[in-house]
Amino acid sequence: MQGKIGFEEHFNIRQFDHDLPPYVNPQGMIQIRRQLLDVADERLGEMDASGIAYSLLSLTAPGIQAITDPQEAVTLARQANDALAGIDAANPARYGGMAALPLQDPQAAIAELERSVTQLGFHGVMVNGFTNTPDGNGAWYYDHERYLPFWERVESLGVPVYLHPRNPLPANAGIYEGHPELMGAVWEFTVETATHALRLFTSGLFDRFPGVKLVLGHLGETLPHFEWRIEHRLAMMGDRIKTKEPLRHYLQTNLYVTTSGNFHTPALSNVLTELGTDHVLFSSDYPYESMREAADWFDNADIRENDRAKIGQANARRLFPNIPAVIGNPAASTRG
Ligand code: ZN
Repeated sequence: MQGKIGFEEHFNIRQFDHDLPPYVNPQGMIQIRRQLLDVADERLGEMDASGIAYSLLSLTAPGIQAITDPQEAVTLARQANDALAGIDAANPARYGGMAALPLQDPQAAIAELERSVTQLGFHGVMVNGFTNTPDGNGAWYYDHERYLPFWERVESLGVPVYLHPRNPLPANAGIYEGHPELMGAVWEFTVETATHALRLFTSGLFDRFPGVKLVLGHLGETLPHFEWRIEHRLAMMGDRIKTKEPLRHYLQTNLYVTTSGNFHTPALSNVLTELGTDHVLFSSDYPYESMREAADWFDNADIRENDRAKIGQANARRLFPNIPAVIGNPAASTRG
């Protein structure tokens, strides 16, 4: 399919190049670090070869969220967003942006959100999981009341918030002791991000701000598959329940999921059954995953052509209405 739009597509700035956790083996990390810094020929070539017309780029994890000094977070978020705005301006038919925000300081995050959307033309927000507290030993999750003004502004601006994974703090990683192979995208990202998303859903956030749109990658970090069981057992929690509606209401109304890094048709089919065809969107998770592998799978997956067109482009255009009408490289070879 030509004309696909992806929006879990990562880039980096030099300030964060040396801080990346070892997400894969050392040789693989060398390639990933180089590809994160490239927004020119190699990335655009991969997009052309994969039928991806347009990428909404985001600062790679953990990025701003791992900074302990709030003022440094404010400064670096601004630098990262300015750098991304420059990348977008140089290639407006190929790149858009997802804002990085200094959630260490909620008021500063709101100011940077407004600047990113209204001045830099960004399409949404990418947050890399929880934000470090100043002592480096604690985590701010976004169901905390200090973030209510942030969510209020997210809702009024109408931009989606993509909750992307990051590794846990050492204090919360005890179960992985002796098993470093289970960290990151193998398993830990899923547990961390699904739990964080459930905190948002069960906190009542979406009753307060029903217009907030939350995006999860990796086909929803298992939540669509486990919706029935979670809801079934939540119903037995009595006065611990803080939401007006059952979980499935919020999953079907406020949640959007992408195919990033989870290129498996039975899993996609299940997500389409649970969430419907309007809330599922294509993404690759480049450069941690291969755009070509994502596209080869998606273009040939056994789904209805109408659904492919929605997941590949139409749903993204509805979620991000200011994506330019004309996108892609007119010189790129046609791909079926
Ligand atoms: Zn990612």
